[in-house]
Order: sequence, then structure tokens, then C-alpha cells
Amino acid sequence: MKLENELKLILKKDIKEATNLQLYNAINELVKKKAKTLSRCEGDKKLYYISAEFLIGKQLGKNLINLGIYDDIAQLLENNGKSIADVEEMENEPSLGNGGLGRLAACFLDSIATLNLSGDGVGLNYHYGLFRQQFKDNKQYEIPDEWLKGKNMLRDTKVSFPVELAGKTYYSHMYDLDVIGYHGNKNTLHLFDLDTVDSSIITDSINFDKTDIAKNLTLFLYPDDSDDAGRKLRIYQQYFMVSNAAQLILKEEKEKGHDLKDLDKHVAIQINDTHPSMVIPELIRLLILEGIPMKTAANIVSNTCAYTNHTILAEALEKWPQDYLLEVVPQLMPIIEGLDYVVNVAFHDDKELSIMDSENRVHMAKMDMHFSHSINGVAALHTEILKHQELKPFYDIYSDKFNNKTNGITFRRWIMHCNSELAHLLDETIGNEWREDESKLETLLSHYDDEEFLGKAEQIKYNNKVRFAKMIKKTQNIDIDPNSIVDIQVKRMHEYKRQQMNALWLIHKYLSIKNGETPARPLTVVFGGKAAPAYYQAKCVIHLILCLQELINNDPEVSKYLKVVMIENYNVSKSEIAIPAADISEQISLASKEASGTGNMKFMLNGALTLGTLDGANVEIKDLVGEENIYTFGKLSDDVIALYNTSSYHASEYYNGSALIKEAVDFITSKEILKLGDKKMLTDLQDNLINKDWFMTLLDLEDYCRVKETMLQDYENRDRWKRKSLVNIAKAGFFSSDRTIRDYNKDIWHLNKGE
Ligand SMILES: *Cc1c(COP(=O)(O)O)cnc(C)c1O
Repeated sequence: MKLENELKLILKKDIKEATNLQLYNAINELVKKKAKTLSRCEGDKKLYYISAEFLIGKQLGKNLINLGIYDDIAQLLENNGKSIADVEEMENEPSLGNGGLGRLAACFLDSIATLNLSGDGVGLNYHYGLFRQQFKDNKQYEIPDEWLKGKNMLRDTKVSFPVELAGKTYYSHMYDLDVIGYHGNKNTLHLFDLDTVDSSIITDSINFDKTDIAKNLTLFLYPDDSDDAGRKLRIYQQYFMVSNAAQLILKEEKEKGHDLKDLDKHVAIQINDTHPSMVIPELIRLLILEGIPMKTAANIVSNTCAYTNHTILAEALEKWPQDYLLEVVPQLMPIIEGLDYVVNVAFHDDKELSIMDSENRVHMAKMDMHFSHSINGVAALHTEILKHQELKPFYDIYSDKFNNKTNGITFRRWIMHCNSELAHLLDETIGNEWREDESKLETLLSHYDDEEFLGKAEQIKYNNKVRFAKMIKKTQNIDIDPNSIVDIQVKRMHEYKRQQMNALWLIHKYLSIKNGETPARPLTVVFGGKAAPAYYQAKCVIHLILCLQELINNDPEVSKYLKVVMIENYNVSKSEIAIPAADISEQISLASKEASGTGNMKFMLNGALTLGTLDGANVEIKDLVGEENIYTFGKLSDDVIALYNTSSYHASEYYNGSALIKEAVDFITSKEILKLGDKKMLTDLQDNLINKDWFMTLLDLEDYCRVKETMLQDYENRDRWKRKSLVNIAKAGFFSSDRTIRDYNKDIWHLNKGE
């Protein structure tokens, strides 16, 4: 049947007569119908990717692309006076992740299905997900995100498993989401939930009774863990997730008639950071209940599980007090103690290697490393730091387990969907094979001097700036100039990512314009990102940025040349509008601290040039594009690590030793800013920068200002800039998550491709 007729059949009216919401619901039905006819990805072995987060973004557009009917539907709507973008806007964005880690899991699901590998995701169905961010009085406020209201793509399966929490049995409820591969078959994302969850326990903002497990278990993603009740709830959530995962896996294995002793031959489990680590003792426990001896069970599980490390920030490596585990998951403690005993016997009570420490805390990452067969970092530099610094004692005993899998992004969302104009220009210029084979992007290099391509790409960048400006005008009523240079830093707010360094540069720029040094071309500086509700320093940085936004945009002398926008409630859909509009991609974390980054890859693919430290995957970007097509600055990771090891960084020395730094830091509490902001927050931020500055902002500030100025000057050499941009696009193929997943499969999972 023709698409038009199919759609009309569902709509029961003419497309012209339908509202955007009716169209959204109808096209959604069409997608579900088409997904039903797809076959599942099959193979002798199946992967379960367990993750506390899946930041999947809006589904409709991505599904239409993967089904190969996006352009046809867009055309059909246009012929009837409708717009596909308006229809896509009707969908609530699923709020099932914080940032990069959850977004990576989403890109991986897309690539696994696209490569026709049998692999399902397993996670939790948080009713309110992460909070929705609102700005008021130049501060962040958190409100519940009701993303599940209205129609959504989840399928009620009626599948349920009993899960024992603190001695009580709870019955889970599994919801499924189709994961449709690009021009391919499908897999499933399984999200577990509890029917008794009840939003009436939310008091104000995102606060709620943290002790009422039946009502709160899957209410929010990662509730505030700054107090004991919050930390305990996190253990409840994690065990609920992995117990369901383990039971689902064993059920499917039994249904296939497989012997559970052969689990490692038929199942691969990827543990995405330490949140799902309890799947190891849980699976061992269940195998023992099936009559398999402990030692054999531990071996089978180790051969099945693989662990991905996402961070070297010490505070992010989870350690749970034994008391908490005894209260919440008493059935698991004997297993964990047994594993710890095995480790202590094998390694002669070496405390560095023990799962339990002297304060009776259980180190989840250590359990993962002992009882899985693969330990991977997420970028080349990150893996080297794990091997030789953070996890050195484990590398010494398990060198064979360590491997690198540099992160990637799905090109379906991060160019085909978010920048379809550029995608079509690439088709026109190099053919469309790059859509199935990312390595073909490199053929774009032969168009280095192709003025027609360069001109069209420049026009597309301009169009994307217009689209971004419209979004900002509509949502935040700020005017930005599409003829300006657009410089963007969007990512979670964290001191190690150093948004505060960008803010200090902004002060420096503001003061120099005030001083009569006017730039050649207007500049738009964009920030976006949420701070964890209990992370005070990050909230202070947001406060400073919003105060600067108010000060600068309302200053008639300066705002001709400089505008500031902090995007409110930054999420996947907003990033899809922002990133294609960027000229400059800010990736300025303190070297050694950003495991990989994936935002950096999205910007590169969309033709922005990176301004960054040699951290995470920035290092690999530099190796690919060459020195002349990236702007790097700042201390190198070895030097930073040495500064920590010798405790020899003192921010005050930098503050007192540089007029530029002192002027910028002092301005945080100037009368201009104090007029707009909260004196305590601004003073605390300033004190922290001068007296603590744990992530060494002032260390790199001068070099950052120098290189950024060079970059802005270089923008004026349009011919050279456009070529640099072309090289970045051409070299981005390596960062396709299809490449990443092929690597995981080749080295870790060994799934055979089903046909
Ligand atoms: C890609 C992405 C991130 C990760 O960005 P980084 O710069 O790598 O930290 C976070 N949030 C959203 C919404 C994203 O799309």
C-alpha cells in the first residue's frame, strides 16, 4: 500500500485536517506496524547490555530513518501543508539518562541492531526520569519530568519476575521498546518497572519519601545520593534491575533449551559502568539454586560478563557499605563474601585487590575486574591511564583482560537526522555509501578544493544557525545573530569539564570589548547542561553563567559583538538543534579527567572545529585530523597527574601571578555581577577558584585565552576554515558507533552474525 493511504487509514481523516498530535500518534502507529513485520536479529549467542541509563532521545524521527521512510513521510506532510519537525516535536523526550554514559548505551543499541547482531538492552523505566531544568533568578530549579504522559512507544509485555528486596518480594513489570536497525532487523530494550510506584509521594520539586520502596523504586533516575536514604535507594534500584536481567536471561536460555552450564557460550553480558555490577553475584546465586557448584558458577559468570569503566573520578567508583547490602540484599552478601574469600586466598590478602575494604565496604569495580573476562576503557588515553595509574594493581595481574574500545556515536541520529541537509550534500558529493559504511566519509578529502562543496557546506551551517536561533528565540526569547561565530559548550555541568574556565574567558572578553577592543565579527557563546541537584559548586557555575548572560546581552555596547545563551533543560533534542549550528566545539576538560567524551565526536561530524585539551577522545581526534585542523591547549595528562601526585598545584599562585586571571576572577564579585546574582553563591565560587580549584581551572586559563583568540582570528580566513571543517567531517568515520560495536563484538562478545 502507498504510505499515504496507510497513514490515512490509521488517521481516519485527511492529512490536511489532522493536528500535529494526531499526526504524531498516527505515524507512531505506522512505525509500530512496520516494526512488527521486521525479523529479530538472530544468532547462536545473544548479548544483554545492562545499563542504569538509556538516553535514547525522541524515537519517531530515528525510527523513520531506520525504516527508510523518513524523507517520504516528510515530503508527504509537506505536500499537505504540515512539517515533519513540528510533528516530531509532539513526542516527549524519554528522560532515562544523565548524559554521555546513557547516550552511549542508546547509540550502541542502534548500532547493534544495524549490524544485525542479536543484543537487547536491559534497564529501568523511571517514571519521571531525570529532572526538568528551569531557570529562575539566574539559578537552576528542578521539576519532575512527566515524560510518560500521553502516548509513548513502550509495549506492555505482562512479563513479571519476583525480586526480593529487604526480605520482601516485589513483582516487576517489563515494558519493551523496539530497537529498529538501519535498513535492518530489530532488537529490544527491556525496561523494568513496579506497578505500585506512586507519584503522590512527591512533595515539592523532586523531593519524595525515600524510604517507601513500593512507591518510589522506579520513580526517578538516580535520586539525590547525598544522604543515606538516597544511597540505599540506589542499591534497591540496582538490584531490582540486575535481578530482573538475570532472571530474564536464564528464562530465555531455558526456553532455547540451552544447558545453563553453557551460559558463556550463548550469552554475553556487558556491564555498563558499576551500576549493574550486582548482576555477577546475582547470576552466581541463581546458578547455585539450579544445582551448579559455586566455583563452577563463578567461572561461568566470569566468562559471560564484561565490564566497561567510564571514569577515573574517585567519587564515581561505587563502594557500598556492607550494612546496607545486608539490609537490602541479604541473599547476595554470602556470595559476595565468598568471592572476596577466593580473591584473598589467591592474592594473599593483598588489600588493594580485595573486594571488601577495611571499612567493610564492597568495591563494585573490583568485583567486576576479578569476575569478568574483559575490562575496557572508552578512549585510548583513558585505557592507558587505567592500565598504568588508576587500576594498575589489576593490570599487573590481569593484563590480558584489559582492552580499549573508543566510544562512538550513531550517524543515524547525529548527522542523518540532526543535519539532513549536510547528509544530502554528502550523498550528492561522494555518493551515499557512507550511510552504510562510515569509512567512505574519507573520500570527501578529494573535495578539499571543491569550491562548490565548500560553499554549500557553509550555506548549510548558516541555515543551521538560523534554525538554532529560532529555537532559542521561541524557548528563551533571546535574539542571536546567525551571522555570528557560534561557540558551544554543552554537556553535564561538572567542575572537571570546566565550564567555569569558559565563563572566566567570557568575562575577559567582555572587559576587553568594554575597553574598546572590538572583535571583527560578532560571537555567540552557548552553554547548556544540568547540574546534579546536590552539586552546589556546579550550581554556582550555572549561576555565574546566567548572570553573565543577563549582564552581557543587556549591555548595548557589548551585545553588538557578544551574546551569551545558556540553553535551558539541555537534552538530546536540543543538542540535535545546537550541534549542527556550531563553528567551535568546546572540549576543555582538565587533561586526564574526561574518559572519552562523545559530544566532541558529534560536533566534529557536523563540521565544527574542536577547541580542546588533549583529553579523552580529543587525542584521537587530533591524531586523525592533524595539528592544523584542531586547536589544542593546556597541560598534558601526565603533567596533571604529576601535579596531583605531588600536591603541587596551588591556584592562588596562578591568581596572584597573572593580571588576566586576577581581573577575571575578581569580576565574579564585582558590583555589576552582584547586582544580578546571589552574593553567597558568587563568593563561594570565587573562593573555591582561588583557594581550592580541584580541577585546576586557573592552570590552563591563560593558554586557553591565547588559543581561543587565535581561533577567532583564524575564522576570518574563510577559505582555510572551510577546509579545516571539511577535514573534520571526512575524518569522523572512525567515531561511528558501528565501528565501536564491531570492535566489541570482535574482541569481547563474539556473537555470530545471524542472517
Ligand atoms: C552526547 C550527549 C552528552 C555527552 O556529552 P559530552 O560532551 O561527551 O559530555 C550529554 N548529554 C546529551 C544530551 C548528549 O546528547
